[in-house]
Amino acid sequence: MMAATEGNTVLVEKDKPKSPDKKKTKYDVIIIGAGPAGYTAGIYCSRARHDTLILSGILPGGQLVNTTDVENYPGFSEGIMGPDLMIVMRKQTERMGATIIDDEVVNVDFRHMPFKVLTASEEYEGKAIIIATGANPRKLGLDGEKTFAGKGVSYCATCDGAFFRNQELIVAGGGDSAIEEATFLTKFASTVHIVHRRDKLRASKIMQERAFANPKIKFHWNNEIVDISGNQKVQSVILKDTKTSEKTTLNVGGVFVAIGHEPNSKVFQNQIELDKNGYIVLKNRTETSVKGVFAAGDVHDHTYRQAVTAAGFGCMAAIDVDKYLTENS
Ligand code: NAP
Repeated sequence: MMAATEGNTVLVEKDKPKSPDKKKTKYDVIIIGAGPAGYTAGIYCSRARHDTLILSGILPGGQLVNTTDVENYPGFSEGIMGPDLMIVMRKQTERMGATIIDDEVVNVDFRHMPFKVLTASEEYEGKAIIIATGANPRKLGLDGEKTFAGKGVSYCATCDGAFFRNQELIVAGGGDSAIEEATFLTKFASTVHIVHRRDKLRASKIMQERAFANPKIKFHWNNEIVDISGNQKVQSVILKDTKTSEKTTLNVGGVFVAIGHEPNSKVFQNQIELDKNGYIVLKNRTETSVKGVFAAGDVHDHTYRQAVTAAGFGCMAAIDVDKYLTENS
């Protein structure tokens, strides 16, 4: 039954969150992580009638919990707030029958079947695993990043760029992400400043050439952002020359931090294959180097990194798990 719509959020009245059975420790599928990938995997696994546990970690909802308006997730014509979207996804996942426990995984043992997943207080067993722990954008480490999170500081141009029409913006970083984000932002911004701590970009040559040819992009070499300030929202940044320590103030309406991401894969590092940056390596569709252990979303995908692609990967991993369990039970 579909339900009432209140503002942007679709509320399903009859879907009271199920209290998890804390004593139950054996499941068909254990999904680690509760962002769009984990919840979507949970929906598909539960609908396929697999007994499914989601261990949500310390930040249920993932990166979207830290965003404001989400305008590019299909199905919400007026957009939706990131935290609201994750609440709705969680309710939908629980309604399909998945058990969600808000606990953090501290260790895993994928050497033998059934696989073991440990939290600080419990040990769970799963016949199949989906890792959907996501990634976090690397931070500059400035107080202003916290103060102005969602108020001018962003880690995703695709998500937030459209909110900054005709404004001056600054992008921190010198890799492909920074150049890609800056180039994307020129669609909206009057000027995009790129601040890089060295005098050479790390980004690929073709991306560099495009950025150098773009009249809206200005480079600030050998500089770092050392302060972000404003009143309610970002109004300016202070740049510091890495060679001379000279400081300059730049008036900007938004700060986009694009200095890389860190996949949340540490707990799996001795169990499955990771690449040199810590991303999970997929071997056979969504399956990792261990048969029966699958991955979905930003923990393996450093290319697309969108809520909708993470959800898509969650669906794919769940379908692969269904096939795996059917063939191996
Ligand atoms: P990245 O290649 O690791 O680059 C990070 C950039 O941020 C570097 O320029 C680095 O400076 C700078 N940086 C790191 N920490 C910093 C700090 N604390 N303060 C200031 N600057 C800092 O990360 P990425 O650009 O996100 O790319 C990740 C991977 O995805 C790469 O393999 C990239 O090729 C790929 N990617 C590809 C595409 C594409 O092909 N379309 C798009 C995006 C990403 P230094 O240069 O001085 O180290």
